[in-house]
Amino acid sequence: MAVAVYPGSFDPVTLGHMDIIERTAQMMDHVIIGVLCNNSKTPLFSAENRVKMLLGVTSHLKNVEVKAFDGLLVDFVHQNKADIIVRGLRAITDFDYELQMAQTNRVIAPDIDTVFLTTNLKYSYLSSSIVKEIASYGGDISGFVHPDVAREVQKKLGR
Ligand code: ADP
Repeated sequence: MAVAVYPGSFDPVTLGHMDIIERTAQMMDHVIIGVLCNNSKTPLFSAENRVKMLLGVTSHLKNVEVKAFDGLLVDFVHQNKADIIVRGLRAITDFDYELQMAQTNRVIAPDIDTVFLTTNLKYSYLSSSIVKEIASYGGDISGFVHPDVAREVQKKLGR
């Protein structure tokens, strides 16, 4: 059985993330979205809120689960009896860091493989940071995130 973990900050989940989640759910038997708590960046949303938003936008995907995690990604993967890490690649700028992470994880946990999905071209420019920046200036983010997520972002930013 192919069980994959898709880790990230998801602060907040965008349509680019959703595209990766839906494609992964078609390829794997089971997908666990791992929401990182101990992030060096200060997130806009708490891990609990990020999990809640992800649960809402993935409720139609029966083989997808959402969990918050802290600590080493490979430990979370092992705890969940998974053996694949999924990451999205938007542009060449993602590549250096992603390759370094994948190789490091491979050294500390040789039983785990990282699989990269290239972005849907439609969303290649899209990131959670861009969404927050546009929303903070009162811009329209309806083309970037699920309507429920857009509402949460606007509420959080007092818009
Ligand atoms: P992190 O802080 O770990 O990079 P993110 O929430 O920013 O977490 O992203 C999680 C994963 O989703 C990463 O692999 C990232 O490259 C990927 N990702 C983010 N935005 C997109 C997008 N628009 N298209 C495809 N993959 C994306």
